[in-house]
Amino acid sequence: MTWNNEQSEALYNVTNWSAGLFGVNATGHMEVKTPLGNIDLKQLADDLQGRGIELPALVRLPDVLNARISHLAESFKETIEERKYRGKYRGVYPVKVNQQRQLVDEVIQCSRPYHLGLECGSKPELLIALPRVKDPEALIVCNGYKDAEYIEMALLAQKLGRNCIIVVEQAKELDLILKAANELDIEPRIGVRAKLASKGVGRWATSSGDKAKFGLGMSGIMRLTQRLQKANLLHTLELLHFHIGSQVSNIRAFKSAIKESAYIYAELVKLGAPMGFLDVGGGLGVDYDGTRTDDASSINYDIPEYAHAVISTVQDICDKKEVAHPHIVTETGRAMVAHSSLLIVPVLDVNSQLRPTEELEKIPENTYSNVDRLKELFSQLEEENAQEFYHIAAGIRDECINRFQLGLCSLPERAFVDELYSHFTQKLLTMYSEDDPRHHELEGLHRDLADIYYCNFSVFQSAPDAWAIDQVFPIVPLHRLNEKPTQEAMLADLTCDSDGRIDRFVSNWDITRTLPLHEKDHEPYYLGVFLLGAYQEILGDLHNLFGDTNAVHVAAVNNGKGYRILDLVDGDRVHEVLHYVQFDHHKMLGSMRKQVEESFQEGTITLPEGKRLLQTYNKGLNDYTYLGTTE
Ligand code: PLP
Repeated sequence: MTWNNEQSEALYNVTNWSAGLFGVNATGHMEVKTPLGNIDLKQLADDLQGRGIELPALVRLPDVLNARISHLAESFKETIEERKYRGKYRGVYPVKVNQQRQLVDEVIQCSRPYHLGLECGSKPELLIALPRVKDPEALIVCNGYKDAEYIEMALLAQKLGRNCIIVVEQAKELDLILKAANELDIEPRIGVRAKLASKGVGRWATSSGDKAKFGLGMSGIMRLTQRLQKANLLHTLELLHFHIGSQVSNIRAFKSAIKESAYIYAELVKLGAPMGFLDVGGGLGVDYDGTRTDDASSINYDIPEYAHAVISTVQDICDKKEVAHPHIVTETGRAMVAHSSLLIVPVLDVNSQLRPTEELEKIPENTYSNVDRLKELFSQLEEENAQEFYHIAAGIRDECINRFQLGLCSLPERAFVDELYSHFTQKLLTMYSEDDPRHHELEGLHRDLADIYYCNFSVFQSAPDAWAIDQVFPIVPLHRLNEKPTQEAMLADLTCDSDGRIDRFVSNWDITRTLPLHEKDHEPYYLGVFLLGAYQEILGDLHNLFGDTNAVHVAAVNNGKGYRILDLVDGDRVHEVLHYVQFDHHKMLGSMRKQVEESFQEGTITLPEGKRLLQTYNKGLNDYTYLGTTE
């Protein structure tokens, strides 16, 4: 059957989730699109192995990061110019979203033309930010729980020219700030986080509203201004902040929060605070499934629309209230970095358990009545009777299982019924086209009959949100995209946990329970799991002791080779993950040596066997935690 790249692009909905940064090339490979040229991801997977870099590997793409940051900052710049808005855009990257040093440094580098800074949600994150944000125009926004040391550091950093704004999230933090400022004789630069009545939408909606964990309600904000006034420090209140949650899927939620915050901002100015910055928090979402809807894995707006909503709403309200336009701060994280990492995952094996293995003719006749009935149904199955016969066949199989559980059906009969049912359902699936309304009933069947593709990765380590919150990430084969995929698949990872699987996929304008894939032959077959750059690396865990994967930073170059590896961050070795859980690999090896010696003395192991066991054990301690290649 003929099949082309465009059909693959449509099948996996690439055009709609990739934001123009990924596509399918003429050879049927997935590629990264950059202004310097494109990076062929299948080629990259082969080359990594050629260089001895084991898979799975996380690929970080600074070009993509740059494109996303520029798109965000330019969208604000354009709206500001277009609307003659009189404030500036001064976004900050929230370090919590991905704290990997190379990525943070790349963010800072890409941010330079736009004077973007960093947002810190904890003391360790502030320690990361202080030596890095050297741009005198960029901000360091200090959020999160604070102790005296956190505040002291933010105050003293002003002496290095850092623009640290300490955001009061809990009323008692103001005491700590005023005390430290007094002791150090440094004027603080203060912000306040408002608990808005406007709510976000989706999973993180509780980040705002009365029950929100952080922020001051309106009376709290009033008390804060009164206390500052009393201390003759109202002039240090510069910033109003809010955050209505991550992955805000509906632009209307943003609009109402921005409106509310702009009125609070204007009121604070009227109360005598100089202000200057309105920080609209994070939450700008990513269209993971490419449907452009307000479903949890999507967003019903884009970055220019978001920028326009922020600027125009603030401008209108400030003009109405005759207050100067503030500089706009965003704490957008996910939308900046999600696209910039993907995981290359080799498929190890395929289990087609529910596909027939016996030839039909080999199944005996006149031995079991259920087997004969199913055979008859199979031979008479036609498009017209397909739905009715499906119900009958499913009933026969259910009955057979029930009888088996009562000890009334033998193992051979049950095996033949299963086998025939597989033949029947395979034939059935070829009879309905996808636009036939009866096809709907077969969706569950598709899932039951899906092949299991065993993949060399851990969901818990590399895509933890797929397990924890049913987050959907686009998954696409990195090659063979000019070939029609013939199998329906679910993915299983290496962990010994039935949750270690992926069974929700991005497809053509929908989320499906199976993923169309190609039949696995003896050649390597690679999948790409895309949009992993936000939150996944830091939330990943060591389930079954599968550790950090290798990570490569890859940039496009136009020297004919297509790309260059800028950096390799080695993944965990087995002895490293053992160390995390307090095992000392030297002691473990020592103990094994002792036991081998004892067994040798007892005559249960020979010297060559003992040597081999110890060599294998020692090698195991130094291996990558994932499976080695078997192809
Ligand atoms: N700012 C604050 C205060 C946050 O709590 C978060 C995370 O939820 C962010 C910014 C980043 O949000 P996002 O990555 O959704 O833009």
